[in-house]
Amino acid sequence: MAIETEISEIIIDEYTKMLKAALNSDAVVVGGGPSGLYAAALLAEDGYHTVLLDRRVSLGGGIWGGGMMFNKITFQEQSREIFDELDIEYWKRGNLYVASAIELAGALIHRLSKSGASILNGVFAEDIVLINERVRGVVINWSTVEMAHLMVDPLMLSSKVVIDATGHPAEVIRHLSRRKNIHIPGEGAMDVVRGDSATVEHTKEIYPGLVVCGMAANAVSGTPRMGPTFGGMLLSGKKAYEIARDVIHSANSMN
Ligand SMILES: Cc1cc2nc3c(=O)[nH]c(=O)nc-3n(C[C@H](O)[C@H](O)[C@H](O)COP(=O)(O)OP(=O)(O)OC[C@H]3O[C@@H](n4cnc5c(N)ncnc54)[C@H](O)[C@@H]3O)c2cc1C
Repeated sequence: MAIETEISEIIIDEYTKMLKAALNSDAVVVGGGPSGLYAAALLAEDGYHTVLLDRRVSLGGGIWGGGMMFNKITFQEQSREIFDELDIEYWKRGNLYVASAIELAGALIHRLSKSGASILNGVFAEDIVLINERVRGVVINWSTVEMAHLMVDPLMLSSKVVIDATGHPAEVIRHLSRRKNIHIPGEGAMDVVRGDSATVEHTKEIYPGLVVCGMAANAVSGTPRMGPTFGGMLLSGKKAYEIARDVIHSANSMN
């Protein structure tokens, strides 16, 4: 076999193997920003069959640009433990800690890559699977299909829990709100202290089988945005993992 053929065959085989395994999982995490990356890594490390998808080819969501493209991020004391666990270098400035946005993105992506999760980048959730008043998966397509406005039917991923980690647009919940009476007010105006803690507080199972975290949690609860301080996002990812674990266990006990 020509090496050109071999390369293509290996890539197609290996990707297809991963995609087929992703058809039926414990958890689908939609969005590879800080909250989604961390939640997915923790779930997969615990042995849950986890799939993370992101519309973009590069994972990391809003981490890379820091604040206004200055690639530094800040965080507060409450999340310092997570930065230690991720082995990220940081230093103190007044009441805040500062770290590199690039290092945080790299560390989270590395952690997820090593966790055993299936990662589908360049793939977006265009709808949800909703059966008997419970979210049971997502409807997916290539981002390029969306960009080119092609009329191509999607495929479906089934899972015991879906996590909406799509950031400001709260896209997965929007698909639900079109069918159910769920109001999405959008995040409130900037208030760093309230916003950071509200992200964690409003991380919850918003509908049976659907957990919301990160900026999407603020968007659905109308609580304030908080600027480029990322501790709340990671704490929210951790809480989403804990809630998702319970949802998976209760789904297992129903079967
Ligand atoms: C316009 C703008 C304003 C911001 N304002 C704030 C702010 O007020 N406070 C703050 O803390 N941070 C803000 N940020 C910074 C940063 O985005 C967030 O803090 C942080 O990155 C949010 O993390 P997250 O985990 O919620 O998801 P995000 O980092 O937002 O990542 C979401 C990911 O989901 C993916 N995605 C979205 N929809 C889909 C879909 N349907 N299918 C698959 N993938 C999908 C996106 O490609 C993205 O990678 C802002 C960023 C932007 C771009």
